[in-house]
Amino acid sequence: MQNQIHNIENQALEEVQSADTLEDLEMVSVRYLGRKGILTAFLRGISSLPEDQRPDAGKNANLLKMKLEKSIHQARSRIQTAKTGKSSGIDVTLPGRRRGYGALHPITRVLDEISDIFMRLGFDIAEGPEVETDYYNFEALNIPKYHPARDMQDTFYVSDNIVLRTHTSPSQPRTMEKTQPPVRIISAGKVFRCDSDLTHTPMFHQIEGLMVDEQISFGDLKGVLTTFVHQFFDRQTALRFRPSYFPFTEPSAEVDIQCVICKGKGCRVCSKTGWLEVLGSGMVHPAVFENVGYDTQKYTGFAFGVGIERMAMLKYGIDDIRKYFENDMRFLGQF
Ligand SMILES: [Zn+2]
Repeated sequence: MQNQIHNIENQALEEVQSADTLEDLEMVSVRYLGRKGILTAFLRGISSLPEDQRPDAGKNANLLKMKLEKSIHQARSRIQTAKTGKSSGIDVTLPGRRRGYGALHPITRVLDEISDIFMRLGFDIAEGPEVETDYYNFEALNIPKYHPARDMQDTFYVSDNIVLRTHTSPSQPRTMEKTQPPVRIISAGKVFRCDSDLTHTPMFHQIEGLMVDEQISFGDLKGVLTTFVHQFFDRQTALRFRPSYFPFTEPSAEVDIQCVICKGKGCRVCSKTGWLEVLGSGMVHPAVFENVGYDTQKYTGFAFGVGIERMAMLKYGIDDIRKYFENDMRFLGQF
């Protein structure tokens, strides 16, 4: 008798487990628990058993019935989950929680863009230290100690002879000491000056360029910088070269572009002049060549420097330079 229950149990549970559809499961349920089912028939037959066996048989058969019903219930959930992908705990149709994508900082983006333009023009990348000696930051660039031009740059001194570089120009003598012409490099990075207001931060970024070879003329300077401005802003952007002074170039010129905001009509950004200053440039001063041992009779060259924050402000119409470094995600997320 106990064996008989055991056999029914094994057989029934196996059939429940192997049911793949709700129809199959229903048939198993009817076969065992239906009005004419196997287990139902067994339960009915208990009354005809010898009296001493009835209590045990009834108890075991009822336990099996509960077990089978539970198993069928679980199998039904299993089949439904497989069919619809739904289960009680997880709603797979609910939209996921999105992770924000990272993006390049606007300064990095503009720096990369400017580097790309000059690399397409055949310039290589040179790098230099941010903590620089007084010699490379000033003296090699024709700015001796006590030269009034040192007042043009508010310098952070680490010690008497060590400074935080005030411009990327030290990469010029550093490169020329190691290589003979032709030289065609750009050097980008952080520079530091004691200055802070709407348009100045104590740390900012520059790109420096240098081209040296035989017969390099001011015409080459104008050609390269015009190409750069046209590629960075727009082919229609007008430029003008304005005489200026830098200790390490002679002659020197500042480059203005037609105001990108008002297109030359005059506005607040360009102080009603219609022009914006974007670059410093000039022909390399012979004293700089002498410091690195270049033959000044044979070689000429030009150099230029661009402020990255300034370029990014003009390109994206940003009016406060400090926004770049406040790490406000609402600002940075726009780029
Ligand atoms: Zn303007």
